[in-house]
Amino acid sequence: MLKLAVVGGGPSAVCVVDAVARHLTHDTPVEITVFEPGPNLWQGQAFQSDGDEVLANVPMVAMSARTWDRRDGVNWMLEQGLDEFAADDVFPPRWLVGRYFQYAAGRTVAALPATGSALRVQPQTVRALVMGENRLWARGDDWSAGPFDHAVLCPGGPPPSDPYRLTGAAGYIHVPYPLSRSLAEVPAQAKVGIVGSGLTAVDIVMALHARDHQGPIALVSRNGLLPAVRGPLKQHDPLHLTVPRLEAIAAEKGELDLTDVIALARAELGDAGADTAVIAEDVAEAAPVVQRLRDELDRAVRDRDPGWTMLRDTLVACGQDAWYLLRDEDKVRVRARHQTLMRLCCPMPPVNAARLLELFETGQLGLCPEVQSIKPISGRGFHIQAARDVIVDVVIAASTPAKRQLAPAAAPQVTALVSQGLAVPHPFGGVRVDRTTSRLISRRGVAHKRLHALGDITHGAYLFTFGLPVLAARADCIARDITATTQHVQRAGEPAERDQHAPTLPS
Ligand SMILES: Cc1cc2nc3c(=O)[nH]c(=O)nc-3n(C[C@H](O)[C@H](O)[C@H](O)COP(=O)(O)OP(=O)(O)OC[C@H]3O[C@@H](n4cnc5c(N)ncnc54)[C@H](O)[C@@H]3O)c2cc1C
Repeated sequence: MLKLAVVGGGPSAVCVVDAVARHLTHDTPVEITVFEPGPNLWQGQAFQSDGDEVLANVPMVAMSARTWDRRDGVNWMLEQGLDEFAADDVFPPRWLVGRYFQYAAGRTVAALPATGSALRVQPQTVRALVMGENRLWARGDDWSAGPFDHAVLCPGGPPPSDPYRLTGAAGYIHVPYPLSRSLAEVPAQAKVGIVGSGLTAVDIVMALHARDHQGPIALVSRNGLLPAVRGPLKQHDPLHLTVPRLEAIAAEKGELDLTDVIALARAELGDAGADTAVIAEDVAEAAPVVQRLRDELDRAVRDRDPGWTMLRDTLVACGQDAWYLLRDEDKVRVRARHQTLMRLCCPMPPVNAARLLELFETGQLGLCPEVQSIKPISGRGFHIQAARDVIVDVVIAASTPAKRQLAPAAAPQVTALVSQGLAVPHPFGGVRVDRTTSRLISRRGVAHKRLHALGDITHGAYLFTFGLPVLAARADCIARDITATTQHVQRAGEPAERDQHAPTLPS
């Protein structure tokens, strides 16, 4: 029986176990152990229970856990009688998407026994994965489990950063989610500063508005950029900007230049009849922020955004490979515009954009760019030094640094893998993985057949590690790889499992 450990029980794990159940058969039954210590099994951080106003940033049709069935989530919504959330132009509450993930995992658990397989959840934090006699052991503070034939690491990302070292200060909220809990103590008249102006900041503004917040709200950030506004989804089959094309260029030239990617994108935009001048203008960010919000909302609502809609779709299909193959100098150039890239690639729902605009226009919401410092004031409150100085009562964290750190719960296991030579840190963050299989790359430069990684922990290698379509597609590749390895081992007649003792970690 194949023994598989999945470290982390969020949406990535849902995709992995579903894909493994799909590929493994009666001949290769599997015993899956999912390690998840937190309260949000299968929903993870982003899709935990929260208010109805906390929306997914894509419609349900882009939230399927199954890469082979795009309408899986939509069909679940319809079966629940939730037709209003199944439409292609509606952005469902994130907690409801979380319920779909719970359903999808439950479906896998129920289906596994038919192939002699099983899944169990171990509610513990894995501190280390240790290799001994060619198999893996998961180790926690005072326990050890295994041996496992394969492990998939999907521990998610870190909480918002605290660049102004405010943790512990009265009135500072470091972990905003669930907003229904974190905002409960914020008085309706309080002056609120939100550190960041991306999607998390937008969620916080929406949640404050839903609570009928009356006090002023300042979006405090260095660049003052807001997420772009998502237009209607369109099915687009790329002809130029495709993985085979990127692979061919990289093979021919020995590397992939940014200019190659831009040329392919231009060809794609040309075919779609999109105006490249609009794209160039958006990238240049010349217009004032609120004006840009107004323009982008107008374009999204009037469905005049074929360029970005098409580019974003195309990036889901080939963005990870494009980033992986890009030469390092160009990666550095792209990372220098990280906030712009994120703003354009991860747009907000138009309904949120319209609400933001309304709040800007009434004056309740303001931008506070070029922030230099945020300091607690003795007594209570904070002094924000920025383009304009502001005094607020409450500060809420909502920023992510361009150089992402590992999630605190993920760091020890990565350190342990690195110390055994089983993993290598990626210079742009996370761990190195093989492009097509997501196997960890060892110190000797070998793609390790027993270790895979999915999600935020691969952000240095893939850059685009968020969004269900990307996670579900990679999960399917991982499941195929594990299945192929297992069948190969069975054919080669590797000895059956035997009693083993947990090895110790090299010091
Ligand atoms: C605020 C926010 C909103 C988002 N909205 C969307 C959206 O609308 N649509 C979309 O497609 N994507 C969205 N995303 C991206 C989203 O993060 C991913 O789509 C997806 O939720 C990531 O799932 P995950 O399982 O990789 O990580 P997580 O959801 O973070 O889950 C990881 C799990 O691993 C566990 N874990 C960590 N370390 C260990 C350990 N050592 N041992 C055991 N368990 C461990 C954690 O407890 C956690 O439950 C959003 C992200 C954020 C932050």
